[in-house]
Amino acid sequence: MKLYNLKNHNEEVNFLQAVKMGLGDNQGLFFPTELPIIPKYALKELIEMDFLTRSVKIISMFIGNEIEIHDLTKYVHNAFAFSGPIIVPVTKNISCCELFHGPTLAFKDFGARFMAQIISHFNDKNDKFTILTATSGDTGAAVAHAFYKLKNVKVVILYPKGKISKLQEALFCTLGENITSIAIEGSFDECQTLVKQAFNDKQLKIKTGLNSANSINISRLLAQVCYYFEAYALIPDIKRKNLVISIPCGNFGNLTAGLLSKSMGLPIKSFIAATNVNDTVPRFLKTGIWNPYNSISTISNAMDISRPNNWPRVEELFRRKQWSLNELGFGNVSDCVTIETLLTLNHMGYVSEPHAAVAYKLLQEQLKENEFGLFLGTAHPAKFKHLVDSILNTNLKLPKALEEPSKLPILSYDMKPSFEKLKKFLIS
Ligand SMILES: *Cc1c(COP(=O)(O)O)cnc(C)c1O
Repeated sequence: MKLYNLKNHNEEVNFLQAVKMGLGDNQGLFFPTELPIIPKYALKELIEMDFLTRSVKIISMFIGNEIEIHDLTKYVHNAFAFSGPIIVPVTKNISCCELFHGPTLAFKDFGARFMAQIISHFNDKNDKFTILTATSGDTGAAVAHAFYKLKNVKVVILYPKGKISKLQEALFCTLGENITSIAIEGSFDECQTLVKQAFNDKQLKIKTGLNSANSINISRLLAQVCYYFEAYALIPDIKRKNLVISIPCGNFGNLTAGLLSKSMGLPIKSFIAATNVNDTVPRFLKTGIWNPYNSISTISNAMDISRPNNWPRVEELFRRKQWSLNELGFGNVSDCVTIETLLTLNHMGYVSEPHAAVAYKLLQEQLKENEFGLFLGTAHPAKFKHLVDSILNTNLKLPKALEEPSKLPILSYDMKPSFEKLKKFLIS
């Protein structure tokens, strides 16, 4: 597989290099040189396969023979060794595609666990890595668990202090061993900037074997492409014809993966890019002007991102496929409306959480008569227990994956959003 740097098309790397480097020159994202296409006649057969078999096929369509099929099969099986997507009907023409049945109860498990498998592929060659990642809530846990106790790998996770839920924090800040967490006194965007600065520091990069497990890493996106195919496979034939998928967006990795699945030939009619009030992309789609404001804290905290990393990939895909950005649905939802929506969903018998509720709200508003809609359930409601309990006046039961860590002490360091401080920390 060849990929080029979106900021410098002359820089070309293969898949393993792209995974290892994360970003190219000048912080450019890597993008596939060739976009695989599934012939119509082959689609039916692909859809009929089981999730794991199909996922190996899909990923190998991108990466070719760079990893032997035997190894790739092992990696996919190890990575996706948990319950895949589940489709739960909510109304007559809308279902939730729940992606949160993995070990850390968010869709990020798919990408993070697959990436950890690819990193372990290098590991056999004794390369050393420092995985430096910024999290707005759920990446931290998925990455920490995926890389926990992996040899030759040190994980450092930055998160905005006090801006993620207590249970999200407990999931990755209580592990110890090779996992270090740092509570940054600032916003997620500031955490993300620190990661980028670290990547720009050649000395630091070489000294620590720096890598990022953010969705800038192409391996995460390829893993995510797989569950769109599974979602399609799980819905009844008659509902597949005019399928609209609404995605709660933060860094826009999930949307990028969905669009990649469509570009391969998965018949998805359209997507809705749903955000909270951190609406840089919806405003851009409306006005054509890219004007990020400072990010604002909301109850859908994993989406509190005003400078979404993956957006250049979305634009590149539209350009390459000659699609029009006008075909992309979009919108933003305030906290107030998110709360109302959670109550409405609860009335209909579906307990949700703020991120999925944002996606549902816009889907319900924009879905047409003859269409069928899926909104992505990106995290388990119990991850936001305090909030969801108080809104729905209920008492959610904590799944085991949350109950145990919630009793352990938080091991995080506190740090000002200063690159010098972070650099010192990483080198020491
Ligand atoms: C990460 C996350 C998102 C945003 O996903 P992106 O791929 O960054 O757009 C949405 N919801 C939840 C619960 C998340 O953890």
